[in-house]
Amino acid sequence: MRDAPLIRTDGADDPVHHKLKAAVEKRQSAYLWTPADTIRFTPRLLPIFYGDGRALFRITTINQRPAYWVIRACSTWGCGLDGHDASGPDFGEITDDIMTDLEDAFGRGRCGYSGSSLFHPRKERIQWCQCEECSDRHVARWPEVDDNGGCSWSRMDWPSGFATVKNPLSWQGNLLPEALAARAALQKEEEGR
Ligand SMILES: [Zn+2]
Repeated sequence: MRDAPLIRTDGADDPVHHKLKAAVEKRQSAYLWTPADTIRFTPRLLPIFYGDGRALFRITTINQRPAYWVIRACSTWGCGLDGHDASGPDFGEITDDIMTDLEDAFGRGRCGYSGSSLFHPRKERIQWCQCEECSDRHVARWPEVDDNGGCSWSRMDWPSGFATVKNPLSWQGNLLPEALAARAALQKEEEGR
């Protein structure tokens, strides 16, 4: 149930967020169906985090998988079948907001006029749409967002180097300990004084 607005915090001043970015934004190879489809990409961390920032999720779009963004989210959020006991919303209910936040952070790979893919070379897409974005020389590339066709997501464990606790909602996707999240918040507050 979605009853409260999302609480967003800019991770720019958050030491946990900086450490997380360094740990997850590493170039890697992955393929979706067969090794011949292998692509190289660098996962990207959404620069803001939601709620208490103790949980991690991966999100990918149908058009861009297996490349994915990492979302640092609230420990109260559920994820599919594990969401029955969650006090927060299900991740699947807020993917529209998350996609918008990803587009704000990394850019949108679809033109605003006809929804044409800006990942295609200009000379191809100009045949279908002649709007300002399609006429521009810029060709979109990862991590710009192409959410046409939808997205998929899953919980994710914290990378090694972070203290974690088990997630009471799920065997997958551990959590940052409460004390650590609280300490980081406190530190931020003290720095602000
Ligand atoms: Zn266009």
